[in-house]
Parts: sequence; structure tokens; C-alpha cells
Amino acid sequence: MADIKIHLCLAHMSGLEQHYIRSAIESNWVAPLGPNVEKFEKELETFVGYDKHVTAVSSGTAALHLALILSGVGRGDEVICQSFTFIASANPILYQGATPVFVDSETDTWNMSPLLLKKAIEERLRITGKLPKAIVVVHLYGMPVRMDEIMDIADYYAIPVIEDAAEAMGSTYKSRPCGTFGKYGIFSFNGNKMITTSGGGALICPSEEMSRKALFYATQAREPFPYYQHECVGYNYRMSNICAGIGCGQMSILHEHIAHHRYLAACYQSLLRDVPGISVHTNPDADISSNYWLSTILIDPVITGTNYEQIRKHLAEKGIESRPLWKPLHLQPLFRETPRYVNGVSEKFFAEGLCLPSGPYVQEKDVLWITNEIKKCIRK
Ligand SMILES: *Cc1c(COP(=O)(O)O)cnc(C)c1O
Repeated sequence: MADIKIHLCLAHMSGLEQHYIRSAIESNWVAPLGPNVEKFEKELETFVGYDKHVTAVSSGTAALHLALILSGVGRGDEVICQSFTFIASANPILYQGATPVFVDSETDTWNMSPLLLKKAIEERLRITGKLPKAIVVVHLYGMPVRMDEIMDIADYYAIPVIEDAAEAMGSTYKSRPCGTFGKYGIFSFNGNKMITTSGGGALICPSEEMSRKALFYATQAREPFPYYQHECVGYNYRMSNICAGIGCGQMSILHEHIAHHRYLAACYQSLLRDVPGISVHTNPDADISSNYWLSTILIDPVITGTNYEQIRKHLAEKGIESRPLWKPLHLQPLFRETPRYVNGVSEKFFAEGLCLPSGPYVQEKDVLWITNEIKKCIRK
């Protein structure tokens, strides 16, 4: 196998990160919380707007876990979760001793189908006598969920929505940032996301009170006493002042990163537009504006005479990293017994899709090369 020349999505530093890390070390704020954390949270609040309050935490997964806790999810509850996603969207449901109920996707956004969501809620109510305690939707690969449709249904049943925007920092639905529609939203700052803190996440909350409560649970649920008093289960989920320093530096290039991902997506779209059997995942209409965290394609095996795995192997031989789409969670052995409402859509995507290199280090000439290599795999 060739050495990797083009990675799927690499972290990229602005240069300012060093400044914030140095100031943390010089002021001896090498601890959880601290001035970088406060600055990073303020900048995230400005970025998302809509009077949201943001708590920076140790990972996107931790942020999701806190959102479920704040939504009152506990043992014996059911939580509806998009099936087409990374497992981190669902693992925190298990941490709470609750049961995920997977809901499949619609064909244009690739995200949770509002029709199936409604069916799932009504059927769970009929079978269990209870409404699901929360709904986790995912803006997968940065493509926004149809939030109006989802919120109409969720509001009708008064079920809180948690938006997993781990991949969707900078994506908008009807010009409003993903992560601000549901009761809670989360971002991830893992090494491969739109920006990084080396590892980290953020919980977007509807009020200062809820964001303070999130910090309480993220700080071992320590009660305000001079000694250590604990009345409920807590976690060690705070972000360190060093990691937040990286985040402050990254905020200075966030808009550049988003613009670059979108530019690369436009390159893929124009270079693959006329290739029969290959479709590039693209904003389905003007309401939906993806950050194109990863550019993704579907390969029709009948028309192209090839498939995603043959293309993936061919690209790997050239040193180009690509990756199959997320395997739907309802197909994961871990979730063999889990209730699901499926329509075949995510299974078809999984059978036909590929993620293509999209990070800040990928250039237009790389996209030209990658798309030419893809075209070589197609039956003449
Ligand atoms: C990355 C990711 C997460 C989890 O974020 P971490 O910071 O890695 O814990 C959750 N959901 C989705 C869809 C992701 O891609």
C-alpha cells in the first residue's frame, strides 16, 4: 500500500494556538477551566448566536451525554436516534441505561426522515404507553437536517430535540446555524472535525441556567459547600484551559476552513457532474447549506461497473485516503435487539457511498487528481 499522500481530513493550525497555550502555561492556568475556556465559550456563543449559552467540555460525546442528562433521560426510557450516523450519537443513550430507537433517513438530506420519525413516535407510544424521552438528529457530513419538519413533530409531542452538529459547525438551515434549533446542540472539536482542540466538544444550551447545570454535571456534580458534597452522579467532562487555548486559535480560521470545505465540494461537484452513475451529495434546495465537512459520493454499481470498495482500494494504491460511509447503527451487532424504523435508505447509502478527502490541506489540483483516478475505475 502506498504512503498516504492525501488524507481524508487533517487538523490545520492557524499559528495563533501557540500564543494561547503559552499564556495558559505562563499564567499557570494548566487546569480545567480558566481564561481560555471562558474566551472560547464566548466566541462560540457569538458564532452560534440566538442567545444560546455554550459549555465547553472534553468531547462531543460528553456533550451529548450531558444533553441527555439535562433532558431527564434515565433507565427504562427510550430515545429516538438517527440510524445513519457515527456510533457516538447513540452510545451516551446506553450510558444512561436508556434504549435507542433508530429512525432511518430521507433520500435527499441523508438525515432523519420526518415521516418515519412520526411513525416511530406513534408506534412507541402504542407499544410502550410512553413517549420517547428525547430525539437525537444528526447533521451528517455537515448536511443540515430538515429542522422545521422535525421540530413541528417534536413540538407537537413536546419531546426535546438534541442536535448532533459534531460534523456541522458552520452549516445552516434557512440561514440559521445548525445546533441552535433543538433544545440542545453539540459540536465536536476532535482532530478531524471542522476545527479542533486536539479533543473536545461543546454543549449549546437554551439558557445560562442550563449551561451552568451542564458544568455542574461535568464537574463531578459537586455541590456548593466548602467541603466536597455530592447528591447525584457526576462526570469529569470539563475542557482544559490548554485545549481551549487551541480552540481560541482555531476560531480565527474557522470561517476560512468552512469556506475551503465548501470550495472543495464545488470542485468535486463540477468535476464529477457528467460522470454517469456517480452522484455527489449536494444541498438539495436553497434552505439547506452544508459546510461540506466531508465531500461524499454515491456510486451506482450497475451503471459504473465498479463499486465503492474497488474505488477505495484504487485510491489507496495511489496514496489517497477515502472511507466508506457510516454503517447504519441498526446494522451494528451492538444494536441487534434495538427497535428500528427503517426504509432501506441508509442501507443503500452504506452499500454505495464513499467519503472523499476534504480537509484544509486538500487543494483544487488534488481534487482534479482524485476525480481522474475515480473516473479510471469506471467501466468504459
Ligand atoms: C465526531 C462525532 C461525534 C463525537 O465527537 P467526539 O468529540 O469525537 O466525542 C458525535 N457525533 C458525530 C456525528 C461525530 O461525527
